[in-house]
Amino acid sequence: MSERLVELAKRRGFFFPASSAYGGTAGFYTYGPQGAALKRNLLESWREQFLTKEGHMEIDAPTVMPESVFEASGHLDTFDDMIVECPACEASHRADHLVEDATDIADAEGMSMSAVEETIAEHDIRCPDCGESLAGVEVSAFNLMFGTNIGPGSSSPGYLRPETAQGIFVEFSQLKEYARNQLPFGVGQIGRAYRNEISPRRSIVRVREFTQAELEHFIDPETDEPPLSRVEEVAVPLYSASAQAGDGETETMTIGAAAETGVVDDWIAYYLGVAAEWYERVGVDMDRFRYRQHQPEELSHYSSDCWDAEVEVDGNWIELTGFSYRGSYDLSKHDEYADEEFTLFRQYDEPITVERPTVDPDMSVLGPEYGSEAAAIAEELQRLATGNPDAFEGDTVTVSVDGEDRSIPVDVTGFAVEEVTESGEHITPHVVEPSFGIDRLIYTVLEHAYREDEVDGEPRTALGLRPGVAPTTVGVFPLMAKDGLADRAQEIVRRLRSEGYTVSYDDSGAIGRRYRRQDEIGTPYCVTVDYESLEDDTVTVRERDSTAQERVAVDELHTHLRSRMTNRQ
Ligand code: ATP
Repeated sequence: MSERLVELAKRRGFFFPASSAYGGTAGFYTYGPQGAALKRNLLESWREQFLTKEGHMEIDAPTVMPESVFEASGHLDTFDDMIVECPACEASHRADHLVEDATDIADAEGMSMSAVEETIAEHDIRCPDCGESLAGVEVSAFNLMFGTNIGPGSSSPGYLRPETAQGIFVEFSQLKEYARNQLPFGVGQIGRAYRNEISPRRSIVRVREFTQAELEHFIDPETDEPPLSRVEEVAVPLYSASAQAGDGETETMTIGAAAETGVVDDWIAYYLGVAAEWYERVGVDMDRFRYRQHQPEELSHYSSDCWDAEVEVDGNWIELTGFSYRGSYDLSKHDEYADEEFTLFRQYDEPITVERPTVDPDMSVLGPEYGSEAAAIAEELQRLATGNPDAFEGDTVTVSVDGEDRSIPVDVTGFAVEEVTESGEHITPHVVEPSFGIDRLIYTVLEHAYREDEVDGEPRTALGLRPGVAPTTVGVFPLMAKDGLADRAQEIVRRLRSEGYTVSYDDSGAIGRRYRRQDEIGTPYCVTVDYESLEDDTVTVRERDSTAQERVAVDELHTHLRSRMTNRQ
């Protein structure tokens, strides 16, 4: 099936390998006219569902970012996949994928490199390209980021972003101003991400340059709750970590029940509900869809709950989207590494009075006694007063400077406990992140829409795309290109285009062939102008899936199409 779909995708202008005139480069694809339009429609729909309806902001950050960003985010050290190189043909392979393909292990990504090495030897896994045994060959870590130099020379290294999320996190101090310093608020971004995948595969499912649509929802973990009532009735198939560990199965539950019973974190549950509604609307077959929870060994150390939206395509389950509760990890890391603060001021309902231990060291004593160390001693005294005020109860207090203990008389420290009124505190917001990959969604929507059937005794290939995302919404054909039929059809084309339809005009070949061409790109309606049209100003409207035809007055065409498309979305 995948070959037939990929062939259709190229022939009809959905997607095809890029730069093939120069031999092509694995992992890069160009979207043709139909694919670009389908992608645009999906992104518009995502924007509406996850940003506009939720009241979230959208930003558009650069795709190249300096190295320091990825030092802080951890990508430089840990954004690795496992690589094994064939000693005979030198082809590189993703070692965990070889293990998954050759054994019953469903997710080898969470295994250690030595365990993967052992499994390769144990099962005598061979190079998929030349058949050489990979037993005993070293498995190593390969960083997936594409590096570059910013400006001439190599003094300013940069990277193509491996996810759009960092472009949001690094601008937090600016973004919180736009949100008037009030939590919760969400910021989304749609854009390209780059990963130097070891072995790109399954056409646009695993590529080296792809489009993500990510949302970072910043929340106060103590006070903010998701609007669960909006999606509590939505039923979703959940494949929990415990079901995966035993031989449990996917269980369909409402979002309300999943949150209430604690199967899913509340915030994640909210977005699983919002996303399930959306997936169905854009044409994912919900009978081949599930939410799979990460197993403990898959979970990043900072993530407390993570679920992937998975779909079955070509007989395999693939990840479409990750939903992760990331806690304060991202903002804390940038707070630690960057010059700005990545916190937000949480105002108390009522100001509170707190006791605050302080010191006011007598530098006229410390200075002569400790010379250049005096300032460091004063700093240590303040730290000690905040962390352990009881230490000031005796006659002397001990602080350590450069590994040396210094005993300071308490009356020189100016220690006191002051009462202060505080109106709030600085907190690091938590982050809830739904992270969508759009290329995999495009593949899924096409694969789930692909059908081969028979019409009038002839085989036909069609894409049952939802009208809301179909790249072309109406095909218009004159029965013949003469006798004024073409002119009348062109008038209808102009009219429909001005009414917002994406129209394809086709006057070549037999009418049946023209229908087939539109069926193959998933056009939901075709309008045919014939001799009768010239007499009574009616046309034939043919629906793609049923191939049923109706006679409709040209003046009512817009109302007719609109009502049918709205019903079928
Ligand atoms: P995988 O395990 O399949 O490599 P991932 O868990 O690394 O994916 P995330 O980092 O969670 O993926 O990225 C979010 C989304 O971006 C994924 O769910 C997927 O849809 C998309 N994505 C990630 N890598 C690729 C890729 N190489 N090609 C196409 N889409 C991708």
